[in-house]
Amino acid sequence: MDQQQKIMIGIDLGGTSIKFGLISSKGAILRKNKRKTPISKDFHETVEVITEEVHRILEQEGLRISHLVGIGIGIPGVANEKGEVVFANNLFWKNKPLQRILEEQLGTRVKVGNDASLAGFGEFHFGAMKNTRNALLLTLGTGLGAGVIINGNVFHGSHYLGTEIGHMVIGENFYNCNCGNNGCLETFASATALVKYATHLMDAGETSSLKTVHGKKEKSLTTQQIFAAARNNDKIAIKALDRFTHYLAIGIANLINIFDPEVIALGGGLSESGDLFLEDLRVVVKTHTYVKEQNPTKIVIADLKNDAGILGSGMFVLKD
Ligand SMILES: [Zn+2]
Repeated sequence: MDQQQKIMIGIDLGGTSIKFGLISSKGAILRKNKRKTPISKDFHETVEVITEEVHRILEQEGLRISHLVGIGIGIPGVANEKGEVVFANNLFWKNKPLQRILEEQLGTRVKVGNDASLAGFGEFHFGAMKNTRNALLLTLGTGLGAGVIINGNVFHGSHYLGTEIGHMVIGENFYNCNCGNNGCLETFASATALVKYATHLMDAGETSSLKTVHGKKEKSLTTQQIFAAARNNDKIAIKALDRFTHYLAIGIANLINIFDPEVIALGGGLSESGDLFLEDLRVVVKTHTYVKEQNPTKIVIADLKNDAGILGSGMFVLKD
């Protein structure tokens, strides 16, 4: 291997799975492994899975821990500058010294950050946000996560609480957000939002081809079904998608007005159906930005899909 190249392990820790990538500082993914997150979500059990898998990857590649610059981990929650997980609701973790424990157990440098922030860092280095200085990644999944890059660095806010763009309040909604507020962007522009609104319309008696899959339980309806129905001109699916697009556009216009970024990239599961809403989205964004027709911010679909997290986490190790 090129001597100039540094190698790291990037880890994307989620509520259901833990993705591992042995990566190079040039963006090559030398190996990808995946483990299930322990059902208990127990901190020590999870740490054990992580250390076990790191050793396995090193063994598979004939490497020693000393060959790594370090290990970066994206967690679904808030991590402070000491690499402590302040909280991660999906994992039921609070004040867990993840960095310290892993450094002790593995004997290498470890850095911990928010998963969406680090996915943004991945897109910034190797994906849709390459060659920018200021750019944002919005991950459209169950919720709406964000990675904000300012002057080429991951922006965390002063207390590592920043960039909760999904909880930017942009209207009034018919249901409350998980965070306890009403009107958060992610209650309008996420998979949960789409399903809830389509269900809401059907419960109000509107007819739809989705009714046959909807049954009685909201859980039975998926965004894939909504997107498929929208492609078949189903009225409810289109209405739900229009509302999603409208509010996402308002959120994006606000971000453009605040940050004036070069690129806003859309990632997460819903971005795979971007052909259904990206054009409309760009039009609605323009009607809400301060600078309208000539606004130079590009809105694009993210490049790296599921690899953004491992690449960004790995590159995060190289940061001071
Ligand atoms: Zn919220």
